[in-house]
Amino acid sequence: KKSNPYQITEWCRSLIRPQVKPGDLCIDATMGNGHDTLFLSQLAGPSGRVLAFDIQQAALDATRKLLERQDGVAPVSLFLDSHANMGDYARPGTVSCIVFNLGYLPSGDHSIATHKESTIAALEQGLELLKTGGCISLCIYSGGDSGFEERNGVLEYLKGLDSRRFLVVLSCYYNRPNHPPIPVVIYKL
Ligand code: SAM
Repeated sequence: KKSNPYQITEWCRSLIRPQVKPGDLCIDATMGNGHDTLFLSQLAGPSGRVLAFDIQQAALDATRKLLERQDGVAPVSLFLDSHANMGDYARPGTVSCIVFNLGYLPSGDHSIATHKESTIAALEQGLELLKTGGCISLCIYSGGDSGFEERNGVLEYLKGLDSRRFLVVLSCYYNRPNHPPIPVVIYKL
């Protein structure tokens, strides 16, 4: 299937690609069906490593299946744990890229979704795990089943980040109606 370069996850990937080199350590904070886990493991290559988190066993099962028989990818560790605990799994200053695709799995239970408090706790830890020059990408959704609380809370948190330590770049689908998703990349300076 041909991917749409303007779709939010592809947009974020175009910004992530230059940041990750073979041998790097990366984290998928919201594993879901594993597409971002696979993407990161392709960038990091066999000498790299990827850690992936989700709170649903179904996500680990789907991701394990997707990763079967992939060649030339990084070894991947799948954790049934909240991304709010990612600080327990890596050392500060060692991670090149962390991907957050917030919300719920479109094909899954919409009531199992990310939440403002745990997302912000995960971002706090993620920013410490990042090495200088590393980045966190975020796909933020709102409206419908996602509501607005998480989007508003995360945007407020990002606004307050120390501009001497982090650069926060937010894109916007400016002329799209309703509540378009928001792609964000945070760079550690
Ligand atoms: N990146 C995924 C993919 O490629 O299919 C899509 C992710 S989906 C939009 C969001 C995922 O976040 C869901 O699978 C959900 O279970 C997971 N999630 C919700 N709260 C979480 C938490 N506290 N820690 C880790 N994952 C969480």
